[in-house]
Amino acid sequence: MDRWDKARQQAAAQGIDALLITPGADLRYLTGYHALPLERLTCLVLPVDGEPTLVVPGLERAAAEAAGVTLPIAPWNETEDPFELVARLVGTARRIGVDDHMWAARVFALRDALPEAEIVLGGAVVQALRIRKDPDEVAALREAGAAIDRVHAQVGQWLKPGRTEAEVGADIERAILAEHATCDFVIVGSGPNGASPHHEVSDRVIRAGDPVVVDIGGTMPSGYCSDCTRTYVAGGVRPPQEFLDLYQVLLQAQTAQREHARPGVTAESVDAVGRDIINQAGYGDLFIHRTGHGIGQETHEEPYIVAGNTVVLEDGMAFSIEPGIYREGHFGARIEDIVICTADGLEVLNNAPRDLIVLD
Ligand code: ZN
Ligand code: ZN
Ligand code: ZN
Repeated sequence: MDRWDKARQQAAAQGIDALLITPGADLRYLTGYHALPLERLTCLVLPVDGEPTLVVPGLERAAAEAAGVTLPIAPWNETEDPFELVARLVGTARRIGVDDHMWAARVFALRDALPEAEIVLGGAVVQALRIRKDPDEVAALREAGAAIDRVHAQVGQWLKPGRTEAEVGADIERAILAEHATCDFVIVGSGPNGASPHHEVSDRVIRAGDPVVVDIGGTMPSGYCSDCTRTYVAGGVRPPQEFLDLYQVLLQAQTAQREHARPGVTAESVDAVGRDIINQAGYGDLFIHRTGHGIGQETHEEPYIVAGNTVVLEDGMAFSIEPGIYREGHFGARIEDIVICTADGLEVLNNAPRDLIVLD
C-alpha cells in the first residue's frame, strides 16, 4: 500500500472525506515534493474516494515535475482563483481536513470557496503515518545519526579555552555542512550559558574547566534530520565536584531511559524513568523540559516524550532521549541520543561516548 492509500484509509477512519495539504513536511512525505512556502497556492487535494491532484501555480509546474511528482498536476494561471480550482477538485466531499500548518488566510479562503463544507484540522491523518518510520526512513535516520556522530568526534579539536562559543560554533557548522545538506542549529552553551537549554552561541570566551553543552543537528540530502547533544569540559582545569556529581546522575537517568524504551511502553513512562532518578538525587527542579521529541523530516514531531502522553511506543517510532539538568547562573548538562523502536527493542542511532568528555 502506498502512502496515498494509507492516508486515504486513515482519513476515512477519522471521518474526513478529503485532505488539503499545502507545502511542508506532510506534502513532502506524501509526494516527495519539497515545495517552497510561496504566496501563490500549492495544494495537494486528496479525496478519500477519487484520485489525488496537485494544484500548483502555472509557473511552478516545471519545478514540481523536476522534483519527480508523478500524480496529476492542475496548474492555475495568474488571474485564476486557485481556491475555486481546489473547490472543484474537492467536489462533493463535505468534511475537509487541512494540514496543521496551513496559513490562516488560506483556511479562510477555502471556507469561502467551500461554503457547504466543514473544514477541520487534518494534521492527525498524516501524523499517524509519519509517526512510524518505514525501513527506508529508518535507514535515512541511521545515516543522519552516524553523520552527526562524526561531527561530535571532531568537537574536541575546536573547543579550547580562550575561544568564543561563536568561533567554536562556526567550526562545528562547517563540519555539519560537510556531512549534511543543511545545518539546522548549533548550540554551544559554555559555563552559565549551558543552563539555557536553547542557547545558541555567543561571544562568551570559553574558560578552562567550563562545562559546555554542544547540541547540534542538520538535515541530510535524504530530507531526514540529525540531532545529538554531548557535554564537554574545556581543557586545563577540573570542573567543580558539584558538576561532576550532577553529570553522573544525568548519565544514570539517560541510561535508564534507553534501557526502558521499547515497543509496548508509553511515551510518558520513558520520561518518568529518568525524571524519578533525577528527582531522587534532588535535582528535580533543574530538569525543566520534557525528555524528548520524535524526529524524521522535521527535527521536532510526534511522538513527544512527556508526562501526559500515553501513546504506546511501536516498532518504527523514532525520538530523542535528552534529559538535562540546569543550574542557573552556573552550568548545565544534557545528553541526547536519537533512538528508534525495533520489533523487540531499541536501536540507538547516536553512539558517540556519553561519559563526560573532559578535553586536554
Ligand atoms: Zn530542544
Ligand atoms: Zn538537540
Ligand atoms: Zn532534540
